[in-house]
Amino acid sequence: MGSTANKQGRVIGENLCGGQSIFRGVLTSAVVRVMEQNVGKTGITAREAQELGMDYVSVVAVGLDKPHYMPEAEYITIKLLANPATRKVLGIQAVGKGDVAKRLDVAAAVLTLGGTIDDLSPST
Ligand SMILES: Cc1cc2nc3c(=O)[nH]c(=O)nc-3n(C[C@H](O)[C@H](O)[C@H](O)COP(=O)(O)OP(=O)(O)OC[C@H]3O[C@@H](n4cnc5c(N)ncnc54)[C@H](O)[C@@H]3O)c2cc1C
Repeated sequence: MGSTANKQGRVIGENLCGGQSIFRGVLTSAVVRVMEQNVGKTGITAREAQELGMDYVSVVAVGLDKPHYMPEAEYITIKLLANPATRKVLGIQAVGKGDVAKRLDVAAAVLTLGGTIDDLSPST
């Protein structure tokens, strides 16, 4: 992506000027609208985990993106992958008429910080 190339270019530029900058990689986040559905992902999918030989567990949950009494509330289906040993979140995919990008933004931050499923739970 152009945005990734831009970040890599900044790292190169900083290091050429004597810095010690490190490119931390990308999560391959993506969001697209298909008809009335918002579709997106961040991190690793089940297929990618299988191809990489990574151990994972996954769960699918359906919920509203806003309180039910709000007229614009819409459903989102979310699939979450986590490492069963470390409980670290590996990836999230989401689809629905609701605000998918907002959920994926939060998920991307959790992934970047090495968060676990406990960090996403209301009670730990
Ligand atoms: C049709 C199209 C649409 C895209 N749309 C998007 C989009 O909407 N959003 C997005 O984020 N990304 C998009 N991309 C991807 C994005 O353009 C690239 O990821 C990004 O430009 C890569 O940047 P780069 O600096 O690595 O390489 P490039 O932008 O390809 O730059 C490489 C440069 O090196 C030069 N070069 C090559 N060989 C030599 C040589 N031997 N000596 C000197 N110079 C050389 C080339 O002329 C070129 O200027 C799109 C790409 C395409 C083709």
